Amino acid sequence: MNIDTASYPSPREATGEPSRLLLQDTFGRVARDLRVSLTDKCNLRCTYCMPAEGLNWLAQEKTLSDEEVCRLLRIAVERLGIRHLRFTGGEPLLRRSLPEIIAFASSLRTDEGRAPRTALTTNGLGLDKRAAELVDAGLDRVNISLDSLDRHRYHVLSRRDRLDDVLASIDAALQAGLSPVKINTVVMPGSNEQDILPLAHFALRTGAQLRFIEQMPLGPPEQWDRNIMITARDIVETLAKDFELSPSSTPRGSAPAELWTAVERDHPHHSGEIGVIAAVTHPFCGDCDRSRLTADGFMRNCLFSRSETDLRSLLRSGASDEEIMAAWAQGMAEKKAGHGIDDRSFIQPQRLMSEIGG
Ligand code: SAM
Ligand code: SF4
Repeated sequence: MNIDTASYPSPREATGEPSRLLLQDTFGRVARDLRVSLTDKCNLRCTYCMPAEGLNWLAQEKTLSDEEVCRLLRIAVERLGIRHLRFTGGEPLLRRSLPEIIAFASSLRTDEGRAPRTALTTNGLGLDKRAAELVDAGLDRVNISLDSLDRHRYHVLSRRDRLDDVLASIDAALQAGLSPVKINTVVMPGSNEQDILPLAHFALRTGAQLRFIEQMPLGPPEQWDRNIMITARDIVETLAKDFELSPSSTPRGSAPAELWTAVERDHPHHSGEIGVIAAVTHPFCGDCDRSRLTADGFMRNCLFSRSETDLRSLLRSGASDEEIMAAWAQGMAEKKAGHGIDDRSFIQPQRLMSEIGG
């Protein structure tokens, strides 16, 4: 499939040097990282993310077309200072044109004159068969979600019996040269605490970089309880049972994970970095450099934002690049200082994680 981007020529070709804007908010943060949701649909039903019956999926006509996605990517990278693109969902591998979208993204040039770094966040189902194709298209790195190495617990958590497929995909991603291959693990009380240590040993031995993530209030509301959630501190205490941990010297930058160098006590030649993302108990909002695009074309300045900027209506009403840039920049300027999960006034956003793009 070819994406027809001919109707959206780069303005450099059309009019000489284009104007640029930075996506800067009133706290001085500049967005360099764009999370692009390519679909809200998914082939798993992780309990912390969506109900067993799924959600009311977006109608086809509400979802951005490939051409619309590519136009927004071009504006973001070539005119709004975005340097990193992460494709997500829902499950982004369900978007058939994913390789073409990645190839288009890789043909763009950032304000530093290089291709944007491209990444994928995926549940891994089917990635084993597509990793090489995606690398050829220009994909640099991948995060694969895996919450248990125990087949039964994986099945209960994701409501599908697909552990073997995910393991095959982690292997294929490493073989295909995606670097780094990260594993995302959400830890849920009463579900997979006993998987923390096995997953850590597994990651160090395979060469994947593991990131534990605190569960956030972005799934079915009854699934999250601040009083019993597993915190980053709980996770580090559990890791310390089998690993010698020391703070990693790798600079953190705007990355959300606190990195630990972990050395297996029983096998000191097995060592590596393990990350813990304290999204709830130690928010990294002060360093956040993200902007988000939903599959139906709304820009969000935060996962927890209660408002969105409707770029789809602008796209479909014939707006110029400059008008889209101005709306995007205005929406980002309104970004709040923090997500406020721990505030009394906190209200969960109307859209769930899979509808926003995690
Ligand atoms: N389907 C893909 C996947 O699972 O990787 C991409 C979308 S998923 C929404 C992106 C990431 O968000 C996954 O790593 C998932 O574990 C995480 N996630 C989903 N719901 C979450 C929640 N309530 N709290 C924390 N992380 C969550
Ligand atoms: Fe699907 Fe990812 Fe949500 Fe799991 S976390 S249900 S794989 S979107």
